Amino acid sequence: MSKKSRRKIRRIQRFVFVAGWLVIAVLLVLVIRTVVNGISGDGDQETQNSLEAAGTPAYGETLMAASVSDPVYFNSAGERVIQWDLITVPDWIERDLLPVNEYSRPGIYLDDVDGIVVHYTGNPGTTAEQNRSYFENLASGADETYASSHFVIGIDGTIIQCVPLSEVAYASNDRNYDTISIECCHEDESGEFTQATYDSLVRLTSWLADTFLIDRDGIIRHYDVTGKICPKYFVDNEDAWTQFLDDVEAD
Ligand SMILES: [Zn+2]
Repeated sequence: MSKKSRRKIRRIQRFVFVAGWLVIAVLLVLVIRTVVNGISGDGDQETQNSLEAAGTPAYGETLMAASVSDPVYFNSAGERVIQWDLITVPDWIERDLLPVNEYSRPGIYLDDVDGIVVHYTGNPGTTAEQNRSYFENLASGADETYASSHFVIGIDGTIIQCVPLSEVAYASNDRNYDTISIECCHEDESGEFTQATYDSLVRLTSWLADTFLIDRDGIIRHYDVTGKICPKYFVDNEDAWTQFLDDVEAD
């Protein structure tokens, strides 16, 4: 064998040696990565499960909450997460909560808030205070009537909150457990709202929709739940209802 070909063989041997080690090194890295990923994946899952069991939002939810810092947000499963303690009712709303009682404030937590239901009192000329008192007086049980509303808006535009946002009010039948209700006072049988009532209704609905991330489809009339002619003017005048939704959207 010539010197030249011996040198060539040695060069090939060296190449095979280096390439061999390279292949082994790459394989080692791949194996280590797989093992490490496997372990941390299991760990995360365990952590999440135990956190969820303890009633704490899962890791991803906490991150999303921190990044949006909103009182209400959608988690990765598309469910609305409501951080009640972060919601502050604005000071243009008068808070005069009903006492907890079977007939008008059962003290039951809402399942969700995915809708806002608009009503009219059906009692021309009454004030917001009078309607609130009516709900409070139901507590005696003498009437055996179940009725209330989260909010009542007066003819002068005053907004009174009767039931906390987190609790059920008896206003909207099948939708009592996942909606916020607004009763509006009116001057006569037509059920048309005064400008002051209308403006407060737009402002309140807009605030609720923004706070609870409710879109236009989630703003409904009592009529849309049961077919009851309520709120009368917005049932009789479909255009006025559409205009109201436009005004809420623009607010
Ligand atoms: Zn109604």
